[in-house]
Amino acid sequence: MQIRLNALREGFQKIEGSLPRELLDISDEWFKQPLVDVNLSINKGSSEISIDGIVRAEAEFECDRCLVPFTQNLQSNFQVILTTGNIGPEQIDENIISITQTTMEVDISNYIRDAVLLSVPMKKLCDENCRGLCSRCGVNLNLERCKCGQNESDDRWEPLKKMLTLS
Ligand SMILES: [Zn+2]
Ligand SMILES: [Zn+2]
Repeated sequence: MQIRLNALREGFQKIEGSLPRELLDISDEWFKQPLVDVNLSINKGSSEISIDGIVRAEAEFECDRCLVPFTQNLQSNFQVILTTGNIGPEQIDENIISITQTTMEVDISNYIRDAVLLSVPMKKLCDENCRGLCSRCGVNLNLERCKCGQNESDDRWEPLKKMLTLS
């Protein structure tokens, strides 16, 4: 996504839009929807332009506990500062881009892509209270109750039952 600097006016402005996921080079492992929503709040000063972005995308995951596919709306933020000032070595930061008075366009696709990928949670759960699968019979415990827990208590009476059958 190119930001055309000469199209920006001084001061605060918002740009909202949707970008094709393919353009951002985001794989379809989790993201099946064709578009990523981007909201930019841009503040243009005399020597600095700050861009605050909010990125939203719908992801499709498989639950880590119950293995059922689910969709989740992800959101994350990024900030980029474009500056015509000198950037000292101690200020080198991946979120600061050096521009000159003649810079026409700045590409912020990398920032959008990184924000989307960073919004993917480490643990993918259909619900934080997901009960997962029974480790014995594999039943999805969100949907039904299995008898495994019951059998456990039965097991304790197994010796007695045997005795009773024998008698
Ligand atoms: Zn689950
Ligand atoms: Zn079970």
